[in-house]
Amino acid sequence: MPARMREISRRLAARFGTPGLCGHETSPVDNLVLTILSQNTNDANRDRAFASLKKKYPTIPRLAAAKAAELEDAIRAGGLARAKAAAILSALSRLKEERGGYTLDFLRSMPLADARSYLTSFGGVGVKTANILLLFSLGFPAFPVDTHILRVTKRLGLVPESAALAKAAFLLEPHVPEDAHVPLHLNLIRLGRELCRPRKPLCPSCPLLPACPTGKRATRPGRPG
Ligand code: SF4
Repeated sequence: MPARMREISRRLAARFGTPGLCGHETSPVDNLVLTILSQNTNDANRDRAFASLKKKYPTIPRLAAAKAAELEDAIRAGGLARAKAAAILSALSRLKEERGGYTLDFLRSMPLADARSYLTSFGGVGVKTANILLLFSLGFPAFPVDTHILRVTKRLGLVPESAALAKAAFLLEPHVPEDAHVPLHLNLIRLGRELCRPRKPLCPSCPLLPACPTGKRATRPGRPG
């Protein structure tokens, strides 16, 4: 697995180069809010909801003091506004109560597993979103797995067919090459969007074809297209 992960990482970097920013390169508490907003929606709607929230509540203390109904209005573009507003206010209130302020910096001194457990104890924060925060805001070697990465890594035979997002993340994380967590995460998502699509993956154009059992089967000579 480690050798295959290195090869996959290298092939993706050769095709896609260094990925650009993804929006999660922000402070830990802003990222916590962003990850709650990202549940069950796409990046564009998440970003619209976050921009609207920041316009109305430019600082975290002002956000924490928001009325739930007004916050719901501000984040409606991201869907599930009532549940997300409640999750955001509850998370901020808990931080204030437990830590005396709106900070997650104390996580930096914890082991990765403990920091992840703490984050997933918040409503609306699953393993995927906790890993995004840990990786992008706190620099942990966490490996977030979304639906694109799950599909691609199943086709590559790196995780079992039955694996869900969290299980795949735990299986893959120890084998990600050092310092490749961010580029591998972003390049696998890009591959899933552009080539390894849910239906009719474009295997002949894929840089991972030499390392992919599914792609090799699909492109075997004599196989109907
Ligand atoms: S070769 Fe095909 S199935 Fe394999 S990763 Fe590439 S696009 Fe996906």
